[in-house]
Amino acid sequence: MSELRDSLIKELGDIYDAEQQLLKALPKMAQAATSPELKEAVEGHLRETEQQIQRLKEIFEGLGMPAKGKPCKAMQGLIAEAEQGIKDNDGDAALICMAQKIEHYEIATYGTLRSWASLLEEEDIADLLADTLDEEKGCDEQLTEIAESTANIEAAEGEGAEMEEDEEESANEPRKAT
Ligand code: FE
Ligand code: FE
Ligand code: FE
Repeated sequence: MSELRDSLIKELGDIYDAEQQLLKALPKMAQAATSPELKEAVEGHLRETEQQIQRLKEIFEGLGMPAKGKPCKAMQGLIAEAEQGIKDNDGDAALICMAQKIEHYEIATYGTLRSWASLLEEEDIADLLADTLDEEKGCDEQLTEIAESTANIEAAEGEGAEMEEDEEESANEPRKAT
């Protein structure tokens, strides 16, 4: 078996485990979202994630391998950071940041695996991987859209309101004679 085929199978195991971790984490992230738009986006991607796991099963089958996950430590870490942010009530802008870090990990993986599959002349598998890659990219773009149109601005305005309060407080303080 070629080195690239070995690498493909190994990385498929990694992303298969990562997607399963996400299947458990995404409902918590959807629940933590304040804006209905963000909640809906995360819930939509949860449904896509179920499809992506099915696709991975098909891919393993196509390769004549049992579908088996290999614990993805990177996704464990990314999810741990997201869960910490949720616990700390960091808000939608921060939640989107964490979600996009996750999507970018997936985009890097699926982009590479698709290239490897076509190089190995596994065109059906390359097509399945391309379908998932498109969904991950679509999710990432949707998150950017929500961040730039509302979530970041609202987070910045919240910050601004606090700053104004601080300014008012200091304005009311008696000035010290110099
Ligand atoms: Fe995914
Ligand atoms: Fe990994
Ligand atoms: Fe994803």
